[in-house]
Amino acid sequence: MSPGGGLFRDAREALLGVPRVLGRTLGAATTDLASGAAELVETTGERLTGRRRDLSSLRVAVVVLSDEQGRPVTSVERVQASLDRADAVLRAEAGIAVRVTGVTVDPDPAPTDALDPPANRRLLLADVLGRTETYRRHTDPPGPGGGATSLGAPVTVVVVRDISGRTTGCSLGMTADWVIVQAALFDPERAHTYDETVLAHELGHALNLPHHRDRHNLMFPASSPPGDLRGTDLTPWQGAVLRANRHVLPGVPLHP
Ligand SMILES: [Zn+2]
Repeated sequence: MSPGGGLFRDAREALLGVPRVLGRTLGAATTDLASGAAELVETTGERLTGRRRDLSSLRVAVVVLSDEQGRPVTSVERVQASLDRADAVLRAEAGIAVRVTGVTVDPDPAPTDALDPPANRRLLLADVLGRTETYRRHTDPPGPGGGATSLGAPVTVVVVRDISGRTTGCSLGMTADWVIVQAALFDPERAHTYDETVLAHELGHALNLPHHRDRHNLMFPASSPPGDLRGTDLTPWQGAVLRANRHVLPGVPLHP
């Protein structure tokens, strides 16, 4: 469900109409791209097309872990569909563009407990005990204001091998700049685990959204591929919470 405001209609039109230069360019990228340069490209493009854009932006980095033998748990290419989906959903439902700063494979074999982590409270405990260093070291170093308060800090999505139990993704909410998602979500040959909604759902948690009881909502807790995926709606209130989060940089209105 999205409100009928002009911004949201613009976002939907932008999705359908504007060549997604940024997304395509980053699709195959394995190196970091300065977000300033990315924004310049997009802003210039909008000025040329006379299109007004005042989307907020969220920077997202993806790191794919490698197993004990140094084999990546998934590929950079496979993650792209979920990133595109997160961008589409957040643009249309919350007026937030997802700017991917890099999709990289960490070639160093990760420790088994980082590849196959616990979920929820046990993950929080592991974090408190300092056992989530494998994830944390891929986040931005603390800025002048300190890590936890850095405005516009990217959220790092770490792709792990397998989260314990039936959990497929996990976020510690506002206390961490990283979320974890498991590799099977991105394998299109595994119809019973492939789910493009999970990455966007975990970004929602990282931006402080709690669960929502409507199954059409992005923050509905359960999603069962292939037949019973959660929806991707956000309420206006959820959109406002997302846009107010410290990770999200407000949009700058551009008037042609
Ligand atoms: Zn959740």
